[in-house]
Amino acid sequence: MIEWSETHLSIRDSIRKFCDAEVKPKLHAIEHEGEPPYDVLRKLIATFGIGDMARMTFAAQIEKQKARLGQPEVERADREKREPRANPQAGMEMAMRMIPIIELSRHSPGMVTALGVSMGLTASAIMARGTIAQKERWALDLLTLDKIGAWAITEPGSGSDAFGAMKSTARRDGDGYVLNGSKTFITNGPYADTIVFICKLDEGSDPKLRKVLQFVLDKGMAGLTQSKPLRKLGLHGSPTGELFLEDVRVSKDRLLGETEEQPSRAATKETFTAERTAVAGMALGLVEECQRLSIDYANTREQFGKKIGEFQLIQLKLAKMEVARMNIQNLVFRQIEMAGEGRSMSLAEASACKLYCAQAAMDVCNETVQLFGGNGYMAEYRVEQLFRDARVLQIYGGTDEIQISQIARSLLGNA
Ligand SMILES: Cc1cc2nc3c(=O)[nH]c(=O)nc-3n(C[C@H](O)[C@H](O)[C@H](O)COP(=O)(O)OP(=O)(O)OC[C@H]3O[C@@H](n4cnc5c(N)ncnc54)[C@H](O)[C@@H]3O)c2cc1C
Repeated sequence: MIEWSETHLSIRDSIRKFCDAEVKPKLHAIEHEGEPPYDVLRKLIATFGIGDMARMTFAAQIEKQKARLGQPEVERADREKREPRANPQAGMEMAMRMIPIIELSRHSPGMVTALGVSMGLTASAIMARGTIAQKERWALDLLTLDKIGAWAITEPGSGSDAFGAMKSTARRDGDGYVLNGSKTFITNGPYADTIVFICKLDEGSDPKLRKVLQFVLDKGMAGLTQSKPLRKLGLHGSPTGELFLEDVRVSKDRLLGETEEQPSRAATKETFTAERTAVAGMALGLVEECQRLSIDYANTREQFGKKIGEFQLIQLKLAKMEVARMNIQNLVFRQIEMAGEGRSMSLAEASACKLYCAQAAMDVCNETVQLFGGNGYMAEYRVEQLFRDARVLQIYGGTDEIQISQIARSLLGNA
């Protein structure tokens, strides 16, 4: 894929119109007054029939899974991994996922994060490892955004070392479990209806060797507290909070897959891969918007009797923005192309993609603030918001440093 198709461009234009009509008027309230983003996001889903499409895809997937019952799961998954099959529909679906991410990120990367964590990470975690009953009970409502989801692994003492230092526990209790622990920096945490809670099975063994389990929790369960949104540097379109679990009793039907033998560490890595590749779409939206605003400003702002675009130091900034834009766009195209081939990025490739895109987006946003001079520092010109929002791309979903070590481990054969 070397450019967007006519179909892609017409979808993009419709989403742009939606953003102009629905997102822009709400942006001040969401970015500066603490209004949650969910009403606008639900309108987006309804306007583009995304919920209806999700319902149809979900029904087909469940039907297929029911038909396969009895087939050995591991063998089937292995076979599919060995023999990726071309799937043009999946390529189109990937493009349909990326285009709203790109367009919405021009205005509010926070809203993209809130949407992505709910419909992407949380729903995917359940779809990847849940039983059919669990998917029907929780995943469909997340895929349609009827419910808001949160995916909780980070704790006050465990971020980059998510598994090693994890303290949250599940203890067996009759037929079910008792959950304890606290999570922090959880996107949608304050408002989530459905939470995937990741913890370790406490059997008294060495905490480092304990099994990792994933449970699905509902808002309002006894012993579960969801904090108010935390104040933060940027990304105000995405409420972030803490979760506290004190002796939360759950039955086994809330354990993902309803078995302790689920490869939850591998499942979590799959979730990281999905999260990291989506950053390319966010970075592209940020870079395209910064570049657009910068070109406009360079063509209108005058100093020393000239348009600032005539100064070579300003031209250098614009040229570097274009290099970043081209590279990031190519990484987005690669993902669409891979999906159409029935393939996806490995964790190391996703890490490399995220590392590059996050750093490039941050550089572009920083240079945009510089190009705008004092106006770049003022909220009215919007570039300060994009700059603050871009910063998180180097932190969440694994910091730059963690991406680097992931890439290096893979190169050295230690992944
Ligand atoms: C806005 C926002 C939303 C988030 N949403 C979610 C969410 O929905 N769910 C969720 O579970 N988490 C979420 N997170 C958490 C996020 O994934 C973590 O913040 C991130 O993984 C880093 O962990 P940490 O903050 O504990 O930093 P730490 O791990 O304490 O890192 C501190 C510093 O040490 C560096 N460092 C750590 N280990 C190494 C190493 N081995 N080598 C070199 N340097 C190292 C880091 O790169 C960093 O610079 C979110 C975070 C933010 C900011």
